[in-house]
Amino acid sequence: MNDLTINTATDVDLPAPFAGRHLIDGKWIEGAETFERVSPSHGTVVSISAKGDEAVTEQAIGAARTAFAAGTWSRMSGKERAAVLLKTADLIEANVERIAVFETLESGKPIAQSRGEVGGAADLWRYAASLARTAHGDSHNTLGEDMLGVVLKDPIGVVSIITPWNFPFWILSQKLPFALAAGCTVVVKPSEMTPSSTVMMGELLLEAGLPAGVCNIVLGYGHPVGSLMSSHKEVDMVTFTGSTAVGKLITQAASGTLKKVALELGGKNPQVICPDADLDSAADAVTFGVYFNVGQCCNSSSRIIVHEDIAEDFVARVVALSRKVRFGDPMDPETQVGAIVTADHNAKIDAYVRAAVEDGARLELGGGVLPVDGLGDQFYQPTILSGVSPDMAIAREEVFGPVLTVLTYRTLDEAIALTNDSSYGLSAGIWSENIHTCLEFARRAEAGTVWSNTWMDGYPELAFGGVKQSGQGREIGRYGFEEFLEVKSLVMRVGRSRTPWVQQEG
Ligand code: NAD
Repeated sequence: MNDLTINTATDVDLPAPFAGRHLIDGKWIEGAETFERVSPSHGTVVSISAKGDEAVTEQAIGAARTAFAAGTWSRMSGKERAAVLLKTADLIEANVERIAVFETLESGKPIAQSRGEVGGAADLWRYAASLARTAHGDSHNTLGEDMLGVVLKDPIGVVSIITPWNFPFWILSQKLPFALAAGCTVVVKPSEMTPSSTVMMGELLLEAGLPAGVCNIVLGYGHPVGSLMSSHKEVDMVTFTGSTAVGKLITQAASGTLKKVALELGGKNPQVICPDADLDSAADAVTFGVYFNVGQCCNSSSRIIVHEDIAEDFVARVVALSRKVRFGDPMDPETQVGAIVTADHNAKIDAYVRAAVEDGARLELGGGVLPVDGLGDQFYQPTILSGVSPDMAIAREEVFGPVLTVLTYRTLDEAIALTNDSSYGLSAGIWSENIHTCLEFARRAEAGTVWSNTWMDGYPELAFGGVKQSGQGREIGRYGFEEFLEVKSLVMRVGRSRTPWVQQEG
C-alpha cells in the first residue's frame, strides 16, 4: 500500500468537442479529412481537427512567403508590431480558462498547471513586444575618414514552428512572439495530440490585428506536414521542440536547403544534493521537479545525485512528500499529478521501471499504472527508485513520466562527473549553502541552464536551451530573439577620396 493522496473524478461539465481548422492567409480552412483527440483522463473526444496534407502545407508556406515579401509585417515599424503583440497578451489573459480546459483535456495535465501555463505565457508576449522596438544592429565609425560601416538586423524570413504536446501553449509562446517581433512570417504545426490551444492562439492573433498570411497554422502529423515544413525551399528557418530522435530527422530534412535549424530537445536533468543543503527546500524542489506536468517535462529533474551520507534521510523525505502530492483527476483544481498522454506512453514508462527493478534498483514508492476511480487507467503512480547505477537505462534515458531515479556520490568531482555523464545537457541543479560549491558546479556542469538552490524558475529575459543532444540555438531572452534575425553588413563610402583601381591614361 503506497498511501498516495488520490483525487477521484470530480463532477464537471466537459465542453463539446472543439473543431480545429487550418489558418491560411487569414482564413479558416476545413480539412478533407479530420482526426480526433480523445482525452487521456476522461476518455471522451476533446477535439476534431482538420488533417493537413502536402497540398495544404504548400498553401500555408506559400501564404507566409507572399506575406513576407509584401512587407506588410516584415517592414512594419517595431512600434506597430509591438502593439499587436501587446494586444495578443491581453487577449490571452482574457481567455485563460477556455484555453486551459482544452489544454488539460487534450494533454492530461492538471488544470491548475494549464492555467499557470496559459496565463504565464502572456508575459512572454509582452517581453517580445519590448524587443520588437529595441532590435538594432551596430555601426562602425572607425574604418577610415571616408568610410562608415553599419550592421543591420533583418528578419530571417519564413519560419516553420513545430511544437510538442507537453506544453503546447507555452512552447508556442517561447517561439511565435519572438519570430513575429523580429518581423518574420510563420507556419505553425502543433502536435497532433494537442492541436486546440494553437488554433485558439490563431483566433486571438486575428482579433489582435495580425495581418493575413503572417501566422499560418497547419494541423496534422509529422508526416507529411512537419517533414515538408522542414525541407521546403521557401522556408528559411525551422524551430522545433520535441524529441531528440525527431530533431535529428528535422536536421536531415533541412540540410537539402541549408536552412537554419533551432532545436529544443530532451533532457535527463540532475539535481545534486550536498550534505550542507537546506534539505527541506531541496526535498520539496525535487518533488516538484519530478512530478510537475506529470513528469512529462523536458526540464524534469528525473535523476538526483545525493551525497551518500544523507541519501537515506533525503530519499525518506522525498517519499514522504510524494505521498502527499495530490494525484488523480486533472480537472480537479487541487490535483498536482494528472494523466499520462497516451496508453502507449504509460506502458513505456512502466517498462522502464520494471527493467530497472530487474536490474537491481529498489522501488521506494509507486511503480505501476494506477486507475483512478471514475476515470480510466491512463495514470502512473509517483515512483521513486534508489540503488540505481549510472549504466542503467533509467539513469540515462528520458523516461518522461513521474519517475525519480536516485544516484549517490562521495566527492563533488564525482557528482559533477555523474552530472556530465549524459548525452543530454538541458539543465542541472545544485543544492548547497556554500556559494563556492554552487559556483564550481555551475561552471563545470554541461547544461544550458544551471539552477542553484532552486529548480525550474525561468524568466522571459533569460535564454533557454540545451547543449549536447538537448538541442542547438537558444529560445527566449535577447539571445532567443536574435535567432530570428539575419545579419547584414552595409559598407558605405561617405567621402570622395577613393583611389581608382584602373589608372586612366592622360
Ligand atoms: P515528438 O518529437 O514526437 O513530436 C514533436 C512534434 O514534431 C510534433 O508536432 C510532431 O507531430 C512533429 N513531428 C513528428 N515527426 C516529425 C518529422 N519527421 N518531421 C517534422 N515534425 C515531426 O515529441 P513529443 O512526444 O511531442 O514531445 C516530447 C519530447 O519533447 C520530449 O523528448 C521532450 O523532452 C521534448 N521537449 C523538449 C523541450 C525543450 O525545450 N528542450 C520542451 C518540451 C518538450
